[in-house]
Amino acid sequence: MNENVLSLRDLSIHYRTRRGELQALRHVNLDVPRGAIVGVVGESGCGKSTLISAIIRLLAENAIIPNGNIEFEGQDLLSLNDDQMRKIRGDTMSIIFQDPMSALNPVVSIGQQMLDIQYRDKSSRSEKQARSIDMLSRVGIPDPARRLKQYPHEFSGGMQQRICIAMALQANPSLLIADEPTTALDATLEVQIIQLLKELQSSLDCSILFISHHLGVIAELCDFVVVMYAGEVIEEGTVRDVFHRPLHPYTQKLLQCDPAVIREKTRQLPTIDGEVPNLIEIPQGCIFRDRCEHAFEKCNTHTPIWQEAREAHFVSCHLASSS
Ligand code: SF4
Repeated sequence: MNENVLSLRDLSIHYRTRRGELQALRHVNLDVPRGAIVGVVGESGCGKSTLISAIIRLLAENAIIPNGNIEFEGQDLLSLNDDQMRKIRGDTMSIIFQDPMSALNPVVSIGQQMLDIQYRDKSSRSEKQARSIDMLSRVGIPDPARRLKQYPHEFSGGMQQRICIAMALQANPSLLIADEPTTALDATLEVQIIQLLKELQSSLDCSILFISHHLGVIAELCDFVVVMYAGEVIEEGTVRDVFHRPLHPYTQKLLQCDPAVIREKTRQLPTIDGEVPNLIEIPQGCIFRDRCEHAFEKCNTHTPIWQEAREAHFVSCHLASSS
């Protein structure tokens, strides 16, 4: 069996706009090993959402894929037609979205929604209902048989997200994509959802691709982390290596800006100076050079190559070879 559930190779996604082609993702390589949790982190506009949309084929109509491939469970997803792709979504690959209230249908009971998503399953209605009750109880919904009759607005935000997780895992997928699933929740609920995902991942033995801009959540949940900047993967490794010995200046800055590491009382949170470059006209050299404190001559003219600077720790920075 393939050791990676999901592999992206040299994947680029552009959007046609009136001002030209916006190069939202460029030459992205990413692996999700079987049974692992991989976190993708980066600031807004780094390409996280485009990455997910490309994997589940929900890209906007103006998107084009100039190069690359997406291999999932040994299948090239880009070669599948819409029907074949529909069979994969919600079956072997599931997704949890950021806002549970907009993911759930407000005018359909939870029980009916959980039945509806089992439409491919040929078992009886009562068997499907029993499965829904079991799944709701696994995600910690008390009195699940009674609550199946209720509507989304009768649940708190945390409970709604638990229901979304139950629905996503009901078909026992080999890959769960979690798109900032805790962003709409308060800190206490966030911890509970992370704990729940950890428990379910190990009991159901699925892999998770977890998208977040929250470093603490990534550190708590993931085995591996992929750092993205302006549409490129700029660093990748185990959570331990990337968080304790970051190689790329952007990752280092990102970690310094994490409110959890600030020890002295301050009214001003640290930020990374400068802005993400215009992705319609990609500048020559390193994509981070205008914001990098360590930039030197070569960074203006040469694009850094993707290299394994330490064992299983990859980075694209000219300085990495000397680290
Ligand atoms: Fe900074 Fe140069 Fe490394 Fe880019 S290649 S991150 S500009 S040092």
